[in-house]
Amino acid sequence: MRVTIYSPHVYTYGAMLIGGILKNKYKVRLLRELDKTVFLKSDVVIFSLYSTLHILDKNIREAIDFLKRAKKKVYIAGCVSMYPEIILNELNVDGVIVGEGEITTPRILEGDKEGLAYKEGDEIVINYPKEKPDLNHPLPLIPKDIGKQSIRGANVYIETHRGCLGNCTFCQVPKFFGKQIRSREIEDIVREVKEFKKYGAKRIAISGGTGSLYGFKKSMEKEKFIELLEKISSILGKNNLSVPDMRVDYVDEDILKAIKDYTIGWVFYGIESGSDKILKDMKKGTNREKNLYAIQLAKEMGVKVAGSFIVAYPTESEKDYLLTKDFIAEAELDDIFVSIAEPIPKTEMCDLILDMNKEDLLLYKTYNHNLSVAEFRCYDLLVYGEMFKPNPRLSPYLYKIYLNEAKQQGEDIRKIIDIIFKYKDIIK
Ligand code: SF4
Repeated sequence: MRVTIYSPHVYTYGAMLIGGILKNKYKVRLLRELDKTVFLKSDVVIFSLYSTLHILDKNIREAIDFLKRAKKKVYIAGCVSMYPEIILNELNVDGVIVGEGEITTPRILEGDKEGLAYKEGDEIVINYPKEKPDLNHPLPLIPKDIGKQSIRGANVYIETHRGCLGNCTFCQVPKFFGKQIRSREIEDIVREVKEFKKYGAKRIAISGGTGSLYGFKKSMEKEKFIELLEKISSILGKNNLSVPDMRVDYVDEDILKAIKDYTIGWVFYGIESGSDKILKDMKKGTNREKNLYAIQLAKEMGVKVAGSFIVAYPTESEKDYLLTKDFIAEAELDDIFVSIAEPIPKTEMCDLILDMNKEDLLLYKTYNHNLSVAEFRCYDLLVYGEMFKPNPRLSPYLYKIYLNEAKQQGEDIRKIIDIIFKYKDIIK
């Protein structure tokens, strides 16, 4: 059997991982661009999708219809599989591989239905997987041009553990992977890093929700996390390893020192808001004070700090937004990322949005003829964050980039909101 795994624009770790599991039995190709010639030579095509927007993407939809006309088997996998009801109504596919697919995907290709959601007449049948996979898996299928791809500067984000102890209302990590932390063995990760290096990857980032939860059992096992960084760094060099995402309540001096000694020396905190009320609404489990403390601690340890923020959370008032601006002025971050609140189906925030009238959402309220309130806040915060960086680069060009980014986010998230409202009755 010839299997092609398509992952839009980037080779995601998940796509490479499933490719590695399937390659022992089948002829597997990994694609990041749609390629009808390769598709036609395949018996099965798995679309590994990681954004709700992919479900609406015209080119992806056309490719799927093309494959079905050619009588190929087509499955959807990836984190969009959390909402198979939408996919099966929107896309003409044989099924959705739901949840973690390491155990189920090879069996589904042989005709098994565990871990598969599919349509039976007008009815949708969802068979969730019965077991969680062992995370120490065969080596991934690594494409030869891995060294050419850049995801925020890294060739690849590798997985060290799954699950998150957090409850953030906007996030799908604990819903998809569960709240229990399952970590890979250090030797397994090291073996994989060496393999990525052999295939040309230079810069690797560690992903997994919040990096320092690696090894967590009943409490944080920071020695394991530090040992992991030390070992990967000795293979790649400290300038080629990053640990993007961290929770402010899972860092301390030892962890920050390890980040300084063994990585590019940046920490990325999910700050989200400067308003304690919004942080409470988001069930973030942090507050303004904890956030400022963790930022200060990182600076004292000589680690650069970036923060990500969410604007236009459904309950965010003008006052909450201004508190976020105050926070940014006080925190003086080295970099900031701003996102308009995106409702991921099946998350609490998505349900909250579905209980509201669309017109009451800040993405549908007009700020001026050009922008909604949500887009304005996104643009304004990006510009404001720039002003408080150590070396502000504000220029007409940068204003334009930020404006376009805010507008693009607004346009994309309105599309997502349209689709969740369309399926409101079946996804809530
Ligand atoms: S946002 Fe981060 S801390 Fe919150 S649930 Fe998601 S992964 Fe966990």
